[in-house]
Amino acid sequence: LLRLENVRKTYGERVVLADVDLVVGTGDVVCLIGSSGSGKSTLLRCLNLLEPIDDGVIVFEGREISDPLIDPREVRKRMGTVFQAYNLFPHLSVLENCTLAPRRVHGVPRARAEKEARELLGRFGLSEHVDKHPDRLSGGQQQRVALVRALCTRPVLLLLDEITAALDPELVGDVLDAVRELAEQGTTMVLATHEMAFARDVATTVCFLHEGRILESGPPERIFTEPREERTRTFLRRVL
Ligand code: ATP
Ligand code: MG
Repeated sequence: LLRLENVRKTYGERVVLADVDLVVGTGDVVCLIGSSGSGKSTLLRCLNLLEPIDDGVIVFEGREISDPLIDPREVRKRMGTVFQAYNLFPHLSVLENCTLAPRRVHGVPRARAEKEARELLGRFGLSEHVDKHPDRLSGGQQQRVALVRALCTRPVLLLLDEITAALDPELVGDVLDAVRELAEQGTTMVLATHEMAFARDVATTVCFLHEGRILESGPPERIFTEPREERTRTFLRRVL
């Protein structure tokens, strides 16, 4: 579904991503782990073309999307993205937040968009909140709405960046459960997380980033129990 070859990204003199190779197959859940500043968010932003890359190629659904002639809007129609700070539209209700992109960007008729949004909101335990505005919801509820909003466009790839980082600890579990459910249903995801237990649980592949490089990647059991790189061991000792 997605393939990165030799991706390199710099900010001025600073190399933020180097030699990044990654393959994501349909149904894979790829967890990016690594210290703050290791390049996880930058990698996700390069994937949905929020940031241009300096070198290498990104192929998504057989198309080279790193080609500057590609329209990022067309690519983003096929990818759903949720970031750390839930960026719901404050002036719109939960239902309107979830139906805006399907209606405006994908041309889905209102009745169908609302029906699908209500179904998804129901699945994530948000039925009673459909007509509320985001500021009436808890952080965890808002983040689940942000997830549903991303899902409403039926993305083939979901990008999640630390979606629990801004939440109170007692709200983290609900959001992680929602992501876990998506993973179990075979949703293809690339996600950056500091929740190691969660990564271990849901990932098909864990990638350890260090200073912009994927130092090692593999199935979670191997990365967490027998990391090959000293830096991975040091990192895991600190966070586990
Ligand atoms: P965290 O775990 O704290 O979210 P991260 O792994 O997501 O960290 P990134 O946000 O990808 O790390 O940042 C990687 C490096 O790129 C950092 O050194 C950061 O300072 C730098 N960086 C990120 N965005 C920019 C920018 N817009 N301009 C210049 N440097 C940037
Ligand atoms: Mg980040």
